[in-house]
Amino acid sequence: MVNKMADAEDLEKDKPNPYDVALAQLDKAARVAGISPAVREILSQPKNEIIVNFPVRMDSGEYKMFKGYRVQHSNILGPYKGGIRYHEQVSLDEVKALASWMTYKCALHDIPFGGGKGGIKFMPRQHSQAELERITRRFTHALGANIGPEYDIPAPDVGTNGQIMVWMMDTYMNVVGFTDKNANRRVVTGKTVNSGGSLGRETATGQGIVHCIAEWARDRHFDLNGATYMVQGFGNVGSNAAKILARTGASLVAVGDWKGYIANADGINPFKLTEHVQKTGSVAGYPGTRVISRAEFFATTADVFIPAALELEIGVEEAKALNVKLIVEGANGPTETAAEPIIYDKGIGLIPDILANSGGVVVSYYEWLQNKRSERWDLEEVEERLAKRMKRTYLAVNEYAATKKCDWRVAAMAIAIERIGRAYAERGIFP
Ligand code: NAD
Repeated sequence: MVNKMADAEDLEKDKPNPYDVALAQLDKAARVAGISPAVREILSQPKNEIIVNFPVRMDSGEYKMFKGYRVQHSNILGPYKGGIRYHEQVSLDEVKALASWMTYKCALHDIPFGGGKGGIKFMPRQHSQAELERITRRFTHALGANIGPEYDIPAPDVGTNGQIMVWMMDTYMNVVGFTDKNANRRVVTGKTVNSGGSLGRETATGQGIVHCIAEWARDRHFDLNGATYMVQGFGNVGSNAAKILARTGASLVAVGDWKGYIANADGINPFKLTEHVQKTGSVAGYPGTRVISRAEFFATTADVFIPAALELEIGVEEAKALNVKLIVEGANGPTETAAEPIIYDKGIGLIPDILANSGGVVVSYYEWLQNKRSERWDLEEVEERLAKRMKRTYLAVNEYAATKKCDWRVAAMAIAIERIGRAYAERGIFP
């Protein structure tokens, strides 16, 4: 049934600047939250923008230069916190946008962290494991004292995983000092469980998405058993959300990634699809499915759509095509500003990224706490705490949106910046 995947250019399109989108969201929320213009001004720029260029020896023996970024947006509420992305499209403005969304995500949950993000502009798929290790270790070394367990704490994002976090941790631990080596384990989160990671971290973002969907369905007496969903991006976030949602009896009807899109109205097994992706690197070629174009994917009829790939994938055209009841933003910043009114006019619900995908940073916080206290929590405890926190924050956003008659993105951002605004009001700025 699988013929050929959609053309590469079918996957590409012009996108707006993600930092402009982040600023437009901040402005909208600031008007509702009524924070002071000074706080709005402070939040409109990250505190630090770090760019490092570093050489790495390739397997061939040649040296190659890499460009890495770490943007530290805000640490008014706690250490900078946020992922490291390995992708060919990484840019300063992308990382600035992602760092600011981390600030709002942590503040929304009242987690004592600020916001940061980093990345390296390259294609990890084109490198061996040995090269990835050297790139990661050299990047960590180049960042030097710009990261630290009480200062700036990276985590996985697109193109990175637990193994890469362990290489970062090990490099940092080995350069900061001999006697307090183990106190530095929590310099990164999202590590493998064996090397100090938390149980439940790998599935946490997907699990958090499903908590949001379950709350949304409960409020509307909507039965998820027999419902349909579609997922864009089948990496950590997309695949885990798809598998956990399948437990409710909902059925995955369309899915896509960097190589193309597939559909089956009778349902696609997300567990077997995950095995296929682990073997082949893409959903492409999964048996028993129909190859569809990117445009057909966005026009698929389903109850729930989980974008879980990159930012700004839902533009005006995609919003016009969408035929779903609910969008749950697994990816950070997947929706263009101009697409939002179209989505709301169509009566589609939208659970924004800083709420929907926040399960990851919540369990990263739990991992950091476990490392700090030399504890190991069992999976049940991690999952119970995550469920409680996701539900509490979901309810807070729901109530804020109803009281202020605003959409959920504005509500979630407004709760976050009000918290940050209160901290500035109490502390002032130094000197
Ligand atoms: P990942 O690298 O594990 O997976 C990314 C997926 O997106 C892959 O399936 C890839 O093929 C697909 N993809 C890449 N380019 C694409 C394109 N042009 N079109 C369609 N699909 C494309 O990354 P991840 O950790 O799952 O992150 C996905 C999104 O979720 C990102 O926006 C990330 O910032 C966000 N996020 C991740 C976490 C986390 O814990 N990993 C937490 C919160 C938010």
